[in-house]
Amino acid sequence: MRTLQNSRIIVVKIGTSTITKEDGSADLDFLRDISKQIADLKDKKKCNVVIVTSGAIGLGVKELALKQKPRDIALRQATASIGQTILMQSWRDAFSEENIKVAQLLLTYDTFTDRQSYLNLKNALTQLFVLDVVPIINENDSISIAEIDASFGDNDRLSAIVASKIEADLLILLSTISGLYDKNPKEHKNAKIISEVTSITDQILAAAGKSSGLGSGGMKTKLDAAKLCNNAGTVMVIANGKEKNILPRILSNEELGTIFYPSKKIPDKKRWIMFAPAAGKLIVDDCVQDLLNSGKNLLPAGINTVVGDFNKNDVVDLVYKDKTFAKAIVDYDSATLNKIKKQSGHKNAVKRENLVIL
Ligand code: GLU
Repeated sequence: MRTLQNSRIIVVKIGTSTITKEDGSADLDFLRDISKQIADLKDKKKCNVVIVTSGAIGLGVKELALKQKPRDIALRQATASIGQTILMQSWRDAFSEENIKVAQLLLTYDTFTDRQSYLNLKNALTQLFVLDVVPIINENDSISIAEIDASFGDNDRLSAIVASKIEADLLILLSTISGLYDKNPKEHKNAKIISEVTSITDQILAAAGKSSGLGSGGMKTKLDAAKLCNNAGTVMVIANGKEKNILPRILSNEELGTIFYPSKKIPDKKRWIMFAPAAGKLIVDDCVQDLLNSGKNLLPAGINTVVGDFNKNDVVDLVYKDKTFAKAIVDYDSATLNKIKKQSGHKNAVKRENLVIL
């Protein structure tokens, strides 16, 4: 039995294929319809809704009459910046019919790597909720480059990170597919939607396909998003955006799409450590057992090698036998750690409360 009726903070992610028509232009009827549904939820359920929208590159492709999403990075960035204005104009027009104001937030990976920027984002969103404005988020594609790993790459992951950071109750991924199928529905006529997932098993991962078309996401990135939500204690639903009145129906607990239930909630600070990019690495010795089993602090004596140039309080990967098993905030900079590694008698290199096992 689903119990989503009391969700108060909801993130709705909408993919490019859902937002655009077959000719690549914005599907204004669809945007109006979703805006109406959100207005209805805000009115009846008093919930705060954040939209994570794709479509900037897709709409830019249409505007420039390109045949496909450009591979050239500079052209893709330019395309995104052109499409983003069309995307926001379309959302603004759609919501204005409901007398709802919207705000645009373009995020980069760095927004979440710097704790202060992330707190600033959280404050801005809180203020937008107070003003009863719908925040509309996309990645700042013009300055983020997936090729150097400095971007989210797809809005499935971005929406899950946003949902996790703002401690949303629910993330809804609206796409053109109706949920997670037990086998590829394009190949198997008898494929069925898995209505409920409580843990992302190898079998579930095997059921996921690859991405195609203008959007970046596929089922794989949706499952990555589900994993992120799992750690944040956020429920996630994958559903078909084109199904009639989909959002209120999900909130009324209709068995639509696939619901992913979180199994555990990791405290805010630990989640931040998990998602922060590592500034370096500490390669540890057999003390790994103590870290994994008995929850001890990491002492300099247990560190074999220090990789990278990092400062005190940076986040680093903890590596054992070529495998990153944890992330942590370090108590010393790399130069100091290089001097005191493998030696006993020094204070903690990492305190337990600043360490997350992956
Ligand atoms: N940020 C991209 C855009 O707006 C979309 C990424 C995705 O497809 O997930 O075009």
